[in-house]
Parts: sequence; structure tokens; C-alpha cells
Amino acid sequence: MARARSVYRCTDCGADHSKWSGRCSACGAWNTLAEELVAPASASKRARATEGALAVPAVRLGEVTGSESHRWRTGLDEFDFVLGGGIVPGAMVLVGGEPGIGKSTLLLQVAARLDNAGHRTLYVSGEESPLQVNSS
Ligand SMILES: [Zn+2]
Repeated sequence: MARARSVYRCTDCGADHSKWSGRCSACGAWNTLAEELVAPASASKRARATEGALAVPAVRLGEVTGSESHRWRTGLDEFDFVLGGGIVPGAMVLVGGEPGIGKSTLLLQVAARLDNAGHRTLYVSGEESPLQVNSS
């Protein structure tokens, strides 16, 4: 396992330096370099981290065209409203709340409505048994 290495980061401008110095060479501030330990990422870890990422080139804002993605409306008006008009395909949404408040019931309704609308739906639960999900 590779050892953690140190970087010296300027607390003023955030510039990283490989060696400590009394003065930040980026912004010229004195006594602002603080040591930080950086866990080394192995080559394979780095490769894995970029594997799933899409190679999307940077685009100037002035060159952006098209319209907002089509959204899937569930027909549950408040749910659609909270999501800005429906679910954006490919988006991930975290639904939080107190235990027993009805998150699972709501999401089962969402899944059922999307399924009825012809969207292929998979309900995954890490907490409830299939029997509990079925009786919701
Ligand atoms: Zn600096």
C-alpha cells in the first residue's frame, strides 16, 4: 500500500505546493501554507474512477442549444412539482423523511404510475422484505 503524501496548501488562495515555504508562490501571502495529508490513489483506483465518467467536452454557455430534458410526470402533482415538473430521466433523487412518514408508499405509487405509463420500472428496497413491499 502506498504511503500518504503531504501537500502544502495555501490557506488564502488554495494553491498546492510540494514543499513548505514561508511564502505562497501563487498569491504571495506569507505564512499561509499548511500541511495536508493526501491519500494516494493507486493507478487502478484512478482508472476505475474515470471508467464510468462520460467524456463530455466543455461547452461555452453562449453555444448551449436545445431545451430542457423531457420529464416523466407521475401524476402525483406535489411530487412532480417538488421535482420541477417531473422526474428527469437518468437523474437520481434522494427522498428523505422521518420513519413512517410514507416514503416507501409514495415511491411505490411513483413506481406503479411510471410502470402504468409504459416506463420500465424496478423497485429496489434494502430494508423492507418483498412481503412488506407487497402489502404497502
Ligand atoms: Zn496563496
